[in-house]
Parts: sequence; C-alpha cells; structure tokens
Amino acid sequence: MGQRKIQYSFYKDIFHDYEGGRKLTKVIVIGGGWAGCAAAISARKAGAEVIVIERMDILLGLGNVGGLTRNNGRYTAAEECILLGGKELFDITDRYSRHKNVDFPGHKHASIYDVNFVESAVTEKVKQMGIELMTNTRVTNVVITNNHIEALKLEKGDIIKGDSFIDTTGSTGPVNNCYKYGNGCAMCILRCPAYGGRVSISEKCGVPDMIGKRKDDTFGSFSGSIKIKKETLSKDIQEELNSNGVVVIPLPKEEVNSRKLDIKICRQYATKEYVENIVLLDTGHAKLMAPFYPIHKLRKIKGFEKVRFEDPYAAGIGNSIRHMSAAPRDDYMKVDNVDNLFTAGEKSGFYIGHTEAIVTGYLAGNNAVRHIVGRDKLRIPSSTVIGDFVSHSNSEMRKDGGDKKKFTFAGADYFERMMELDLYTINADALRKRIKSEDLLNIYNEKLI
Ligand SMILES: Cc1cc2nc3c(=O)[nH]c(=O)nc-3n(C[C@H](O)[C@H](O)[C@H](O)COP(=O)(O)OP(=O)(O)OC[C@H]3O[C@@H](n4cnc5c(N)ncnc54)[C@H](O)[C@@H]3O)c2cc1C
Repeated sequence: MGQRKIQYSFYKDIFHDYEGGRKLTKVIVIGGGWAGCAAAISARKAGAEVIVIERMDILLGLGNVGGLTRNNGRYTAAEECILLGGKELFDITDRYSRHKNVDFPGHKHASIYDVNFVESAVTEKVKQMGIELMTNTRVTNVVITNNHIEALKLEKGDIIKGDSFIDTTGSTGPVNNCYKYGNGCAMCILRCPAYGGRVSISEKCGVPDMIGKRKDDTFGSFSGSIKIKKETLSKDIQEELNSNGVVVIPLPKEEVNSRKLDIKICRQYATKEYVENIVLLDTGHAKLMAPFYPIHKLRKIKGFEKVRFEDPYAAGIGNSIRHMSAAPRDDYMKVDNVDNLFTAGEKSGFYIGHTEAIVTGYLAGNNAVRHIVGRDKLRIPSSTVIGDFVSHSNSEMRKDGGDKKKFTFAGADYFERMMELDLYTINADALRKRIKSEDLLNIYNEKLI
C-alpha cells in the first residue's frame, strides 16, 4: 500500500478559548457519520461551540450507502426523537426519501432516502447552524490527565483543546481488520487507504474496546448490502425499482447460499427470504441486500447481465467489517472512566442503523453540554423506545455472550422486545402522549448555556 501524504493544516489558528472576554464552551465531536452529526447539532442547540472532526472529505460515513429509515421500529424511534426536539436530520432523510411507506420482506412502512443527495444536505445544515467542520482531518491521539481529556492530537500535528468530547468514530475498519476478519479491503465508502483508518478515541484514553463477534466466535460482522449502478440493470428491473422502490427476484436453487446468513451484521435481513431471493431497494442506486456477490454469478441472472458494483468496488469478494469497536458507557452515553468523553452510534454499542446512530447522537450531544455546565445529565426513561434501547443494549452487551448480540429497531431481537413491551407504535397521538407524560417534549431545544 502506498504511503499517504500528510497535508498542511489550515486549522491551526482558528480555534480560540475566549471571544470578547467570554470563555467559549467547546464540544468536539470526532467522526462525522450520522451519530456525530446528530451529536453536533444537539450540542449546538444546547448552546455550545461545536467542532466536528472528520477524517474523510465528506460527512455521513456509512450513511452514504444505506438509505432505509422508518422501517418497523425505526418509525417509532424517529418520531420519539422528533418529539424530544431532535428533528433536523429526520427532516432531511424524509425530504430526500425517494420512496415512502414501502413494504418488503419482513419490513413495513419503510422510507428509502437517496444516498446521492443526503450528504450535501446534511453538510449544509450543519454549517448553517454554525458548527465548525474540519474534514480531511484525522484524530490520532488524546492528551489526557486524571481521566479528563484536555485535547486531541491530529495526524497533521496540531492539538485541539475542548471541554467535552464525543467519540462517534464508528466501528468499521481500519483496513487490517477487514483483512484479518473479512475477505480483505473491499474498497468501501470509508476509503481507509486514502484517508487513514478509524482510530478508537476511547481506547486512546485507556478504556479497552468491546468487540463484537459472529456465531463462530470470529470478530466483527460483514456489512450486509451492495450498491449496484442502477443503469446497468435491465430496463424492466429499473422501471419496477423506480416505481415501487423494491424488486424481489427468486434465485435459482443452485444460487441459494444460506451460509451467508450467519456472517451478516443485519440480523433483520438474516431470514430465508433474503437467501432465496434477490432483494433490491431503490436508494438512487440499486441496493442489493447481500454482503457480497461474485459478479460472474450475478451476471447469470436475467436482467443482471451487465451489472456493475458502485460500493464497495470489490463487493464481488467482500464488504466492510463492522462492530470492531464499542466503548463501554452508561445510559447518559458517557464513556466509562473518562469524565468528559461521550459516545454514540455504532461506537456506543453493537448497533445497526442510521436511526440508531441519530437518536443516540442527540442524547450524547445534549449530555456533553450538561456535563460542561454542571447540569444533571439527561436519562431517557425506559417507557420510551429510545430510553429502553439505550439501557437494554448497554446491560445486554456487558453480559456473557453479549458480544454476539446486535441491536436495531428494524428487526430481530430488539424489535421483538419493542413489540412485547408495547413500545412499537406508529400512532402519532400515542407517541406524543408518551413523551409528554415524561415531561420531555422538546427537551433538546432547551438552551443550557
Ligand atoms: C453497506 C451498508 C448498508 C447499510 N444500510 C443501512 C440502511 O439502509 N439503513 C440503516 O439504518 N442503516 C444502514 N446501515 C448501517 C448504518 O449505515 C450505520 O449503522 C450508521 O450509519 C453508523 O453511523 P455512525 O455515525 O455510528 O458511524 P459511521 O458511519 O461509521 O461514522 C463514523 C465516522 O467517523 C469517522 N472517523 C473514524 N475515525 C476517525 C478519526 N480518528 N478522526 C476523524 N474521523 C474519524 C469516519 O470517517 C466516519 O465518517 C448500512 C451500513 C452499511 C455498511
């Protein structure tokens, strides 16, 4: 692999501790995926100066390849978050949805956002809110004294001070993990060879990562889908996809491979429908719900003769390996043993999903500010799906065998739990009543500084 060039830093002098004699309250978010963007927006709304540091040239991380929102329990979680005052990012995913209220195997009332347009809309929103963005900037270490982070060290050599920090660096990569626990670097959207790999900030603070496992005890999980260039599919598949948002094509018997079920991260798609059929969703590209697929085999299927992959480029052999790093944390999203480090998204649990990243991000951002101003931290009660998700996943992950669990509102165990506890609903009045009865309506809109 070629050596990466370290670029000159343009950021050296732009961050002040004081402005007009006033000490600035600074929250620094490391990692600009869905979780980091939500955390930044939430901290900004609470009144802090906020910086987002992202190693790549664009925001949204894995959010650039997904697209599915509001399917199954994600609908409930999104609406709860909006009622709490965290609506900005759901406004964007809703606005850029190519399809709404789509049903497909195992999933109801899904929206599918256009992955080609959502990132620029989020970047614009974040800038509009006065959040400082540092892209092409990779955090490589911390300056920590007595369990308190003083500053971050950047790859380019600079040091950035802050009051609270939020680790939303995700759980995917770096490249050596994809070699060790997958089929090699599949050249995914995270582009580690170009921008440098993920760095676990919590681990740099001396807090060991929790690592997810598959059924056979291998570390990590394969990401579960591939972006296909839609125009390389036959015209009739394109048309069906554009009008319905979903296409289901039965596979010939010899192509059915049930072994793929056990390696997939997305337990909500680990069902026989996804083994016996090709399921495509319209995200602007055609999203093929399989972790990888040899291209010569795919091209044997009618309508796929000219198919090409968009992401990962090497989806014929593999996909990104996730759940390689989660920080132990409490129900306020504060990382254990570091007094001013918070976390959200995949970094805060063996989570799957944009919605999961966004709802935990809003909570982490709010509590990062509460920490600075000495206010009681916010705990979302278990009478809500967000509160139950945060605390249930936290306690389950710490148990024996917890490293093999995955959590998503969209299906599998956690969605079943939502239904058992009567937490799943798409009824607007019931949801409003739920959040109001806990006196939490618009809590994220309150200025804390
Ligand atoms: C192929 C695929 C399809 C998916 N489809 C869906 C879907 O349809 N619906 C859904 O809900 N979910 C989907 N998911 C899952 C979802 O995308 C993720 O769970 C979610 O986006 C994770 O967000 P995050 O912010 O926690 O992490 P990430 O998106 O991983 O973001 C972490 C960010 O941190 C940055 N970073 C890491 N280290 C550093 C550092 N040291 N310095 C600076 N920056 C750093 C990274 O560059 C990255 O941008 C999909 C995932 C994949 C891979």
